[in-house]
Order: sequence, then C-alpha cells, then structure tokens
Amino acid sequence: MKQLHKLQPQIDPFSLRLRLTVGIAVLSTLGLGNLAFWTGWKIQQILINNHKNNIETIAQRLPRDVQIYSEMMPPEAALQKSIDSLTATNTYLWVKNSENQIIGKSNNWNQLPNKTTTELMSLGEMILQARIEKVGGRYFVLCGGAVPVKGKILGNLFVIQDVTREQQMFLVMVRSLGVGSIVTIIVMSIAIAIYVKRSLQPLMQLSQMTSVISIADLGQAKLYLDKAPSEVKELAQTFNMMLARLSQSWEQERQFVSNVSHELRTPLTIVHGYLQSVLRRQTNLNEMQREALETAASEAERTIRLLQDLLDLARADSGYLQFCLEECVLNDLIVEVAGMAEKYSDRQIIIENQNKPIIAKADYNRLKQILLNLIDNAVKYSEANTPITLKLDQQEQAAIIQVADQGYGIPLQQQSRIFERFYRADEARTSSIGGSGLGLSIVKTLVESMDGNVTVRSRLNEGSTFTITLPRS
Ligand code: ADP
Repeated sequence: MKQLHKLQPQIDPFSLRLRLTVGIAVLSTLGLGNLAFWTGWKIQQILINNHKNNIETIAQRLPRDVQIYSEMMPPEAALQKSIDSLTATNTYLWVKNSENQIIGKSNNWNQLPNKTTTELMSLGEMILQARIEKVGGRYFVLCGGAVPVKGKILGNLFVIQDVTREQQMFLVMVRSLGVGSIVTIIVMSIAIAIYVKRSLQPLMQLSQMTSVISIADLGQAKLYLDKAPSEVKELAQTFNMMLARLSQSWEQERQFVSNVSHELRTPLTIVHGYLQSVLRRQTNLNEMQREALETAASEAERTIRLLQDLLDLARADSGYLQFCLEECVLNDLIVEVAGMAEKYSDRQIIIENQNKPIIAKADYNRLKQILLNLIDNAVKYSEANTPITLKLDQQEQAAIIQVADQGYGIPLQQQSRIFERFYRADEARTSSIGGSGLGLSIVKTLVESMDGNVTVRSRLNEGSTFTITLPRS
C-alpha cells in the first residue's frame, strides 16, 4: 500500500505547476471550442444561404410567371405550367389555396418517399423566412410566399430543396471537427503540462540547492543555474546575497558567543576556586553561611559548564575544535568513565562488555566527555534506585557504545529534536531538573567530528538508550 502510494505522483492542488497547467489548458480549450463552434455555425449558414437564394428566386419568379401565363390560359393551367417550368432536380414546389387544398404541385414528388411527401404537404403556415428542417429523416430548406394573380391571391406557394446530402456531409464534418478538437485539446494539455513542468524546473533546482545548504557551509554556498530564465537567475543572485549576509551575521554571532564565553569563564573559574577554598578552609562558618557559599559554588560551577559547552560549540562551528584521534581501548575507557560517574552521581553503573578488547579511532578525552554527558542525562532523567548500563559491542567496521537507563523516556515526536541546541523535551519535568539543552548537541557535534554518529531509542516510562557508533581502527 505504501509502495503504491510512493509510485503515484503527488498532486499538490495549490502548486504553481498545477495552476498554470490547468489555467492554460482551460483557456486553450475555450479558445479552440469557440473556434470549432463558430466554424460549424458559419458553414451551416453558408449552406443555408446558398439554397436560400435559389428557392427565394423561385418564390419570386413563380407569381410573375403565373401572371404572364394567365394572359393566355386559365389561372390553374397557368399555375401548373409555371410550376413545371421552375421544377428542377431536388427542388419541389406546391401551392395551397385558402382552404388548405393543393391546387398545383411539381411532378417530381415521386422521387421522395410517400411518408415524407405527406408530412411536407401537411405544412400549413406560410414560410417567409428560409429555414432548414428535418422531415422523415431527410433535410430540407423551406421557403415560400403568396401567389397573387390579377390582384387576387391564388394561394400559398411552398418551395423546398432537398439538402440531405450536404447536411449529412456537414454533420460528418462537424463530428470530425469535434473529435479533432478533443484530440487537439488532449495533446495540447499534455504538451502544456510538460512545458510548464520544464519551465518550473529551474525553480525546483533552486529549491533543492537551497534545501541542502547547512549552517556549516553558509559561507561557501553559492547558487548557480546555468540554463535558467533571467528572472530565476536574478532570484538565485538575490539568494546568494542573502546567504552572504546570513553567513556574515552567523559568523559574528559565533564570534560573539565565543568571546563572551571565554571572557566570562575565566573570572567565574576564579570565583569558583575562591568559594571552594573558603568552604574547605574556614571552620568557623555557621550553617546558613555554609549553605549560601555552597549554593554560590554550585551555581558558579553550573555556569562554567554552560560557558564551556557554548565555547565548544562555537569552536566546533568554526572548525577550531582540536581532536587528537588515536586508537582507544574502549574497554578501559568505559571502566574509567563508570568509576568517575559512580563517584559523583552515587548511582549503580553496570558495565556489559565483551571480553575481547574493542578498539576505536577516537579522541580519548572527548569520548570521556561524551559518555559523562550521556550518563549525566541518564542520572537526571531516571529514578535514583534504577541502574545505568554501559554496553560495549562491535561490528565489522564499527565500535558501539550504548548508554541505557530505565528512566522516564522521551516522547517519540520529540526524539528527533533532542539533539538541537537549547531543545529540552517534556517542559513540565525538565523545568525542575537542571540543564541547558546543550548537552546532547555537544555530544552530537563531538561524535560527528570523530566520524561517528549518535542515535536514540526510547520508550516512555521504560527508559532510553543512546547509541554511539565509532569507526574501528
Ligand atoms: P539538558 O541540559 O536539558 O539535559 P540535553 O541536550 O542533554 O539538555 O538533553 C535535551 C533533552 O533531551 C533533555 O531536556 C531531556 O528532555 C531529553 N533527554 C536527554 N537524555 C535523556 C534521557 N536519558 N532520558 C530522558 N530524556 C532525556
């Protein structure tokens, strides 16, 4: 199901691509549809007009002919003679008197089926405007008028011309025009979709290029599009200028954090040192004074650690963090770290490791800092009576160190964010536990600087396991 979903292209109803494609396709369809409709209507007008002129001439001539012939013969005979002389192939005439009786008709009616003839002859009203009509499956242009003889109306003339063949040809043509228009619209829509996609390609490229720029390469990042339209090139240039400004301000901020951390750390370390020595040497302090001095010393220590973290991050960002990569025996390292952690946290630390030595390429002191950071978190975010496990393992190419606790766990949706700077999950709990939200981002920065990586697996109220993978030497 997931696979199928992946195969189907995602259509975003608000995308510029869809809007442009639909907009241009609708406009082209309307334009082409109107043109096809107008062409059809015009051809039919031409067809009717051609026959209309013919039968209108007959309708005008017949009364004049009857007038002339009636000088020589009785009106009925004159009428018939005039009708006969004007009769032509596909042209049919008949005259009805005021009682709606036929008093004369052309002699070619036998060419039409009886049913059609009866239907046509039953037409009663006078047809002054030529029009096209379908009778008995055939098409006719009809016209007519009065036939006056010696000032008296002899009857109503009906002239029709059979245009079935032309009309059928016209209908075939209209159908072809319709099919042709639909095919053209489909082909045009596909072509428009491809054209719009290609036209928007540079914008997509720009977006892809921008999305991979990280803070680390802000300074060197340059967007360049070779065959893009000038508007997009201009946009890329604007982006480049913005990137340069961003890089500059990021550099200034980094410098500022680095300077401030450095400047504050030295006097604070001195203050902390004095506080420690006063606490150690003075025996005449009362309970309140001792408590106040201890609080001051622990706050100073916490701030020194925060400043050290900020300094490390700033140095790592500018690439000035020094690493001394060497072959480290991890078995010894975790025993040392566990001993240190047990001392300051008063927590049981279980070591699970294979008996054979596992060696990784790392900076010994930095790795110690990383593990102490993780153990510190494990202590902070679990109950005092639960142990913390340090596990050592190895794969073909990698050495693996795991720090696991049986603590509160991290909600799934926050697991991907805990490595961000200053991010602290579960506000309600963390606000009562000391911390700055920098520990894990330092861990990540340091591990990645040693070509390793760090991941987390956690379940709420069951515990968390942080896994560090380092290259084996
Ligand atoms: P903090 O100074 O808040 O500990 P970190 O960067 O070390 O900052 O950790 C970020 C957040 O990740 C913490 O605020 C905490 O919510 C969560 N977290 C880290 N380690 C653990 C752990 N072992 N168990 C549960 N939550 C943890």
